[in-house]
Amino acid sequence: MARLGLAQGLATTFRRLTRRAVTAQYPDVKPALPARSRGVIALTEENCTVCMLCARECPDWCIYIDSHKEELPPATEGGRPRSRNVLDRFAIDFSLCMYCSICIDVCPFDALHWSPEFEYAELDIRDLVHERDRLREWMWTVPPPAPVDSGAGPPPELTSARPADAEAAGPTGARAARTRTARAGAARRAQADSTQPDAVPPAEPGAAG
Ligand code: SF4
Ligand code: SF4
Repeated sequence: MARLGLAQGLATTFRRLTRRAVTAQYPDVKPALPARSRGVIALTEENCTVCMLCARECPDWCIYIDSHKEELPPATEGGRPRSRNVLDRFAIDFSLCMYCSICIDVCPFDALHWSPEFEYAELDIRDLVHERDRLREWMWTVPPPAPVDSGAGPPPELTSARPADAEAAGPTGARAARTRTARAGAARRAQADSTQPDAVPPAEPGAAG
């Protein structure tokens, strides 16, 4: 009986010897993670309006935001002075974060993004509080958005942003951007028309109903 067990064990060993190992050789070989992996949260500070939505909705209360108000001159002559929030501190405590993505989903201004980077373990738990500079650095590791479906028009956020970019680039750039925007709009309208059912011709005046 013992010999039978030994033979079975050896047979299993030899069978496994010929198979490829599935062990991940990390850290020598980095895992191929999907682009939308939730590794670390990156901040585009320029997009943040300090609306506090992310901090309020975070179930772990691990987003820390400080700001102050700044007065701006009125937009029109005789108007009231405007005010805007200026960000003083933006930090996320990744020792508390549960990677639920609520903050990223609720941000109305696309200021927060997931990066697949996950190598930020620390020996001191206090170092897991990433301040705004570190959160901004993670933006370099955020993968570009997935390409739009074939046949789809250009994304509206690009077409609406181009004229402003081009105005800054001068009159030639502005004209080119307006042309691009007009063409994109025409392409979208043509695409929408082609998906509509054939139009019913209007009834002749006086025709019986
Ligand atoms: S992923 Fe969730 S827990 Fe982490 S900071 Fe965002 S809202 Fe808070
Ligand atoms: S929800 Fe977005 S815009 Fe508002 S404070 Fe958070 S990161 Fe900034």
